[in-house]
Amino acid sequence: MRNGWSIPAAGALRAGAVGPIASFDPGSTPGFDGDKISGAELLVKRGEELAGLQELLYANGRAGDHRSVLLVLQGMDTAGKGGIVRHVGGLLDPQGLSIKGFGKPTPEELQHDFLWRINKALPPAGRIGIFDRSHYEDVLPVRVHNLVPKSEWEKRYDLINQFESELVANGTTIIKCCLVVSKDEQKARLAERLDRPDKYWKFNPGDIDERAHWDAYLEAYQDVFDLTDKDSAPWFVIPANRKWFARLAVCELLTTALAGLDLDWPKADFDVEAEKKRLAASD
Ligand code: AMP
Ligand code: MG
Repeated sequence: MRNGWSIPAAGALRAGAVGPIASFDPGSTPGFDGDKISGAELLVKRGEELAGLQELLYANGRAGDHRSVLLVLQGMDTAGKGGIVRHVGGLLDPQGLSIKGFGKPTPEELQHDFLWRINKALPPAGRIGIFDRSHYEDVLPVRVHNLVPKSEWEKRYDLINQFESELVANGTTIIKCCLVVSKDEQKARLAERLDRPDKYWKFNPGDIDERAHWDAYLEAYQDVFDLTDKDSAPWFVIPANRKWFARLAVCELLTTALAGLDLDWPKADFDVEAEKKRLAASD
């Protein structure tokens, strides 16, 4: 057993490994044997490692390396995407992060290709980008609500694969995480938003209407996994009924991906010994 994970998260949570989304258990903790307490402890430990790796990435970016990391978050309303930004992103140095949420496209965005706004928001070299929703919205609500004809959304899976493989070829490591809550858990979380004045701001009456399309969303998500889960830009399915597990899992996947970059500290571009002498000789 390594770190509480009996199977590495990248294997246990890979979309291809978890089976059909319609029968997935959002209360499960695939690959992880620990409980909430050991999960929270491990999150702190792995979070420190992740912060160290982020600093390495940032340092390399400053030294001219073009690599970056992009974490794509998807999931139904209340799945906890914002919580991941806060609790996993919150473990990191804000300077090294580039966070972008995607809501309903603006009139200006609608005048352009669906990848236009995505391209503008990509993480610069040395940064970890987090997308709270993404280009996948253009094959999820857009498909479920026929916002564009089928002939158009159908083509987007290939366009997305091409887009992502170019990004990867240009040095971006892509990790895609879909947070999955059960329909009952979503109901409970929406009820909480209606019960608490400090949560009203998160409530959108449209979220209740979307529940009527649950199965259509599951089908649309299944197609996303079947058509766009690539080794170079993998999809992970994260059970999210237990928030502690979702946070631990996303942190673990990011840590694994950053460690895989095998980065070293950039070499000094000055003569270290000469600078030490100069400093010693200065007042
Ligand atoms: P929230 O994440 O709660 O701020 O909500 C954002 C809303 O924008 C969700 O209902 C999304 O489904 C919707 N949305 C995001 N991107 C698109 C898109 N490309 N087309 C249609 N709706 C979208
Ligand atoms: Mg919402």
